[in-house]
Amino acid sequence: MDMGKKSDEKVAIVTGGSKGIGRAISVELADNGYLILLNYRSDEKGAAETLRMIRDAGSDGEAMKFDVSDPIETKRAIDEAVSRFDRIEVLVNNAGITSDGLFVFMSEDEWDSVINTSLKGFYNVTRPVLEKMISNKRGSIVSIASISGLIGHRGQANYSAAKAGLIGASRSVATEVARLGVRVNVVAPGLIETDMIKDVPRNIIKGMIPMARVGRPEEVAKVVGFLCSEDASYITGQVISVNGGMY
Ligand code: NDP
Repeated sequence: MDMGKKSDEKVAIVTGGSKGIGRAISVELADNGYLILLNYRSDEKGAAETLRMIRDAGSDGEAMKFDVSDPIETKRAIDEAVSRFDRIEVLVNNAGITSDGLFVFMSEDEWDSVINTSLKGFYNVTRPVLEKMISNKRGSIVSIASISGLIGHRGQANYSAAKAGLIGASRSVATEVARLGVRVNVVAPGLIETDMIKDVPRNIIKGMIPMARVGRPEEVAKVVGFLCSEDASYITGQVISVNGGMY
């Protein structure tokens, strides 16, 4: 398709869409009629596969390679998207990493990389997109936090801090823009079957979850799709857990 200046289609930006939960969210939003601007950091093949799935779902999209923790790269990419697409109605801040270890042994780099991806990444991407949504008087922003942002998990001080920060930032921004037509919410998954948890032993996982199974990326994506839709028109500043009953 012609990816030049577009003014008519409703557009969703999804960060970290080359696999896992971000891929499922991209496909769900494509199914709901959004053109998808799909961010990824390094996995070109994965991004191409997500785009194929977006097209199978009857929509279209474009991959945008940038590191959300890099303010300059991110600004360049988002500025370009905002200038080309008039109707950016949805932003999903999904990109995230873990770098687990006990806090007493945690290096500064392990701390910074996780915070800079989830929390600084939220700032880098959301601020310029929000300007556009405010001027359009319409928008829905959903950020993917984690149960680790709600309760502490051993070995995840950096990740818990990043995700708790994401929740705090989202709730604050929600109050600032509620009267301007923009809703801001958070989805907090428990354990979801993706590369991120591939090294965690299944028997330990199952014992932690009342439903005795991990979740599927699509089970998170459905909630994100709902929050982005008109069906959620009176929901803002909320954190919705999708975790099989963990607390
Ligand atoms: P995956 O590791 O499967 O995928 C992570 C995605 O984020 C990839 O597309 C990756 O891109 C992208 N990404 C990572 N860092 C950056 C960056 N700096 N800039 C741009 N993109 C980046 O993880 P999940 O799908 O499991 O996780 C998605 C989100 O859900 C994360 O925020 C995670 O914290 C959260 N979450 C996951 C849970 C789980 O159990 N899986 C539980 C709770 C929350 P690329 O591969 O191209 O580098």
